Amino acid sequence: MQTASSNYRGRFAPSPTGSLHPGSLLTALASFLQARSRSGQWHLRIDDLDTPRCVPGAADAILRTLERFGLFWDGPVVYQSRMQAAYDEALTQLEREGRIYPCVCSRKSLKGMSAYPGHCRDRPIDCNRPHALRVKTSACPVTFRDRLQGEQSYNLAAHGGDFVVRRRDRIIAYQLAVVIDDARQHITEIVRGCDLLSSTPRQIHLQQLLGLTTPAYCHLPVLENRAGQKLSKQTGAPSVENTAPGPLLCQLLAWLGHPPPEELQPAPPEDILPWAIAHWQPERLPRRTRITVIS
Ligand code: GLU
Ligand code: ZN
Repeated sequence: MQTASSNYRGRFAPSPTGSLHPGSLLTALASFLQARSRSGQWHLRIDDLDTPRCVPGAADAILRTLERFGLFWDGPVVYQSRMQAAYDEALTQLEREGRIYPCVCSRKSLKGMSAYPGHCRDRPIDCNRPHALRVKTSACPVTFRDRLQGEQSYNLAAHGGDFVVRRRDRIIAYQLAVVIDDARQHITEIVRGCDLLSSTPRQIHLQQLLGLTTPAYCHLPVLENRAGQKLSKQTGAPSVENTAPGPLLCQLLAWLGHPPPEELQPAPPEDILPWAIAHWQPERLPRRTRITVIS
């Protein structure tokens, strides 16, 4: 039996590139239940660094939707756009320790390559030219055990190679930002979609270089349409903004291996969520990487 003094800290980190779709809500719900069923904390972070892709008003709409589904978070919402100083500090550390280097390769010149070939690793670069910053990787495998997807092992040198931590437009890359934020928020387990499974070894590599603790990982199946496309705004997934929360929560719980009893089907979130918290068993989560949704 877990107590209120549980050290568990989970989070949900949506990008404000549009309103939530059923797939992102599935992740929100599962990470919420993992935390609440352990009397842990659940934090909300808005991944709004990629400004060209952010949609004005989307962050607020996401917060309102989570509230409507009864998914209330702990503490203040963290906005990545306000965390620049922490990212710069990490870059300074990586630079001081010789872990990163400027890269002036154009996207076009790298097209079709499965791994960055290291062109700029050891050549002098004129830093007045627009450049990205890449972190060095090695062929020594990064391994981790995912709660659902099992043992994972990646050779980063072959799997993408040295990767970007600050883009040419000076925007901090997702891989670095997420590592810094999860560490600053003392997140103990990351529950998110399988589309990010292959990002995890990159994040663990950065944690190791920066001397940060590696959290536990749980990568959930991604909801796909019949054409095998991840449900998203781009693939025409229905927004959940105007959907009745109760029935959709029940559907999401069924996909997560926890179908609520019949009598909860018409109930509001404030009745469904306590049932879900009390009955939550991570062993029942599907170990698949995708769920096909017929709508
Ligand atoms: N912001 C990312 C996304 O919406 C998720 C980040 C994460 O969970 O690590 O895809
Ligand atoms: Zn380069």
